[in-house]
Amino acid sequence: MHLMYIPIVLSSLFWGSFVGLAVGTICGILAGPFMPLDVSLGIMQDPINWISRLIMFSFIGFLTGYMIDRINKLNEEKQERNLKSPFYNLPNDRKLFYDIENSIKSGKHFKLITIKLTNLQEIEKYVDNKLAYDIVDDLAQILMYYCGEKAVYSYEKDELIVLACEDGVDYEEKIKSVLEHYCDFPVSMNDYKIRLSLKAGIYVYRGGDASPIEIYNKARIAYEQGEVKESGVYYYDAGLENKKKEMQDITGALLESIKRNELFVVYQPKIDVANNRISGVEALVRWKRNGENLIGPNDFIPVAEEIGFIDKISKFVFNTVTSQMEIWKSKGINIKCSVNTSVNELIHDDYTLWANGIISGKNVNRSDFEIEITERAIAYDDRKFIEKMHYLKELGYQLSIDDFGTGYNSLMSVGEIPFDKLKIDKYFIDRISNTEIAELARLFIEYAHTLGKTVIAEGVETREQLIILKKLKCDEVQGFYYSKPLLPKEFEELYMDFNQVGK
Ligand code: C2E
Ligand code: MG
Ligand code: MG
Repeated sequence: MHLMYIPIVLSSLFWGSFVGLAVGTICGILAGPFMPLDVSLGIMQDPINWISRLIMFSFIGFLTGYMIDRINKLNEEKQERNLKSPFYNLPNDRKLFYDIENSIKSGKHFKLITIKLTNLQEIEKYVDNKLAYDIVDDLAQILMYYCGEKAVYSYEKDELIVLACEDGVDYEEKIKSVLEHYCDFPVSMNDYKIRLSLKAGIYVYRGGDASPIEIYNKARIAYEQGEVKESGVYYYDAGLENKKKEMQDITGALLESIKRNELFVVYQPKIDVANNRISGVEALVRWKRNGENLIGPNDFIPVAEEIGFIDKISKFVFNTVTSQMEIWKSKGINIKCSVNTSVNELIHDDYTLWANGIISGKNVNRSDFEIEITERAIAYDDRKFIEKMHYLKELGYQLSIDDFGTGYNSLMSVGEIPFDKLKIDKYFIDRISNTEIAELARLFIEYAHTLGKTVIAEGVETREQLIILKKLKCDEVQGFYYSKPLLPKEFEELYMDFNQVGK
């Protein structure tokens, strides 16, 4: 009789509470009125016995099924919660990887588009916490409208991902136009007007062996191109991955570069246009890795800034440059030398301390040094930065604004900074034969002259550029037309030659 429980429990397990109830009832009837109590004596069961058993069997069948149904439901809910983003009402990365895996298995081609809102943290911090959430939610709704409810995922708080399967609909163009709209126009929300900066990376999967995380990383590598806060839509290509590997490799070796004596400084002359004499030099750092590969500062300075190693490089450059200036002074070469600095380290209090320390131990003056700050990194409304510039000026350093014209600032706001020199960026010099660009350069020069400052043009490569710059009354020029950055010995030879004989 007890063996009857096996089919009852198994049927509830597999088919649920109602089937369990039915099987329990059938078993109760089978073991009920037709089953004698003693077969040989022909004694039948008491009805109360078999009826109570029937009720028991049905109840056990129904209850087991009900409990199994509940457990399954709870499991499903838990699983669903595991696949939901903790930030938004969207599926999360687990679900994304699961769906990517399924797409790969079914041999589908698809595009993975990762969208990073690069200024979301600032919006959260400086404007409104809730607004940041609303912005992402709003963007997610628009993306869902174009690509389907199930195609949009959330990874981190400031990142949305679209898994667009290629079924004839060109999601990509639609997404691009949405993103471009967000980048170009301020978003109006909760009485605020906010300019978003969005970076999107697109990876196109066309079959092949790859894991979901590898595919995601490829889309992410794609959006890591360009300036960190610059908006744009970028595609993945294999070269990017190699570049990233190179960067990681550089980072490790950079920490050792100073100890291994692999850094050195070269000097590029600046020419005074009025008298055609060398008036100064710009110190530019170089890295000869393992004594053979020459790596340019554009490839390792940003890395050094990111890993907090830039002050070590700056100290090395300053030390080298001050010693070199001492030597040149003793040889009768009296010129000014400019050094490049990153805004972050300049704002840091230590900078003036160690720079003064290095200078005071040597036979050079602060006024022999010009500190170059790239315009791209300057926020003209940053009080701390402006105060720091005033302090440097009081200490006697010359200040110049490097790469002028490449920042996002209006000409008028430059007036707040106590600079001595504007360095017009190579971008303008390359296009100076264009009358509109020449007019812009003339505006820069006139403006600086009105404020009593000087102007230098960087990246001058041709005689034509030089002639135009002379006409525009530019004070100094620097560029390959005169000389590439030189080692100290080479510079000395050029200086002697140039400043004695002229050109
Ligand atoms: P920058 O300060 O704007 O320096 C000018 C760059 O343009 C230098 O590149 C120089 O070699 C190059 N250049 C000069 N004239 C010409 C020309 O006629 N044609 C062309 N095509 N290029 C020209 P470099 O040495 O590769 O330096 C790149 C940037 O790295 C510098 O831009 C500067 O921002 C940064 N940097 C260099 N040395 C240091 C340093 O010691 N500290 C810091 N923080 N940054 C540095
Ligand atoms: Mg410079
Ligand atoms: Mg420059």
